[in-house]
Amino acid sequence: MKVLLALGGNAMTNAEGRARPEDQIAAAEVAMASVAALLETGAEVVITHGNGPQVGNLLVKNELAAAVVPPVPLDWCGAQTQATLGFVLMDALDAELARRGLEKPTAALVTRALVSLDDPGFAKPTKPIGRFLPADEAAVLVEHGETWEDRGEKGWRRVVASPEPREILDAPAVRALVDAGFVVVANGGGGIPVVREDDGSLRGIEAVIDKDLGAALLGQTLGTEVLVIATDVSHAVLRYGTPEAEDIGRVGVSQLEAFAADGHFASGSMGPKVDAACRFVRATGNPAVITDLDSIVDAVEGRAGTVVLPD
Ligand code: ADP
Ligand code: MG
Repeated sequence: MKVLLALGGNAMTNAEGRARPEDQIAAAEVAMASVAALLETGAEVVITHGNGPQVGNLLVKNELAAAVVPPVPLDWCGAQTQATLGFVLMDALDAELARRGLEKPTAALVTRALVSLDDPGFAKPTKPIGRFLPADEAAVLVEHGETWEDRGEKGWRRVVASPEPREILDAPAVRALVDAGFVVVANGGGGIPVVREDDGSLRGIEAVIDKDLGAALLGQTLGTEVLVIATDVSHAVLRYGTPEAEDIGRVGVSQLEAFAADGHFASGSMGPKVDAACRFVRATGNPAVITDLDSIVDAVEGRAGTVVLPD
């Protein structure tokens, strides 16, 4: 069984979302215990992960150190977090595999995802990143070409495009590593966004790809038999946060799309997970599951979480 596993923020930060190195290592150890249990069943696993808090921290460093070392663009921050989180996850997984006496090599791949400059996301950036700044400091950055929005009392915040991933450019390398028996960490943060120039060359671009949409496309490209989106809740929920809340168990893709259209899933959190799950199911005819880390072994067998099935 080939599994694409997308890890959410709770796999890489502590419960409050803090991302000190020790928080990230501790969270990775917990997450990789679940992944090792999945590997023990004989599954082939490709892991992808979010990077929001880590990129946020790099942006603050950029800003505070700008007078001393040149700031690096957002796509560079994405690449740096893929590498760092990749090695943290590999270390944690190697240790857990050794503890269980499982021999399985691990690898982490810096992964680029193609986006299009025609994407509506570039005309109207919507994804807030980094920390809040007072109006006068934001104004300097606006002069440098960045887009910042007035967010009221908290101050101003940078917004960037969140374009659709069109192609996971390094998917062939992921496939080769999987075929060679590696557990692969790839396409972290949704992939490093790049655009193709008229001469065919690639150029990194400042944008943020949704990690769950990137996961769906990578799973589709690799032909994985299931997409598992692991987050901090066991299910997608109808009427979330109300007394009438109800877990969604096994559900057909059209039914789940109808729930989404009715506004059951928040746009910055559960919404993209549901969207990614539906896209993967539609594109492959294979199931997708949204659940928590503790349930991933059962999820792969369709016995836990919100299991999205073809109609
Ligand atoms: P991750 O960091 O794992 O990628 P997010 O934190 O973005 O995930 O999204 C998971 C969160 O989505 C849950 O903790 C929950 O608070 C929120 N959420 C919003 N709407 C729903 C819903 N309808 N069902 C379940 N969770 C929801
Ligand atoms: Mg989160």
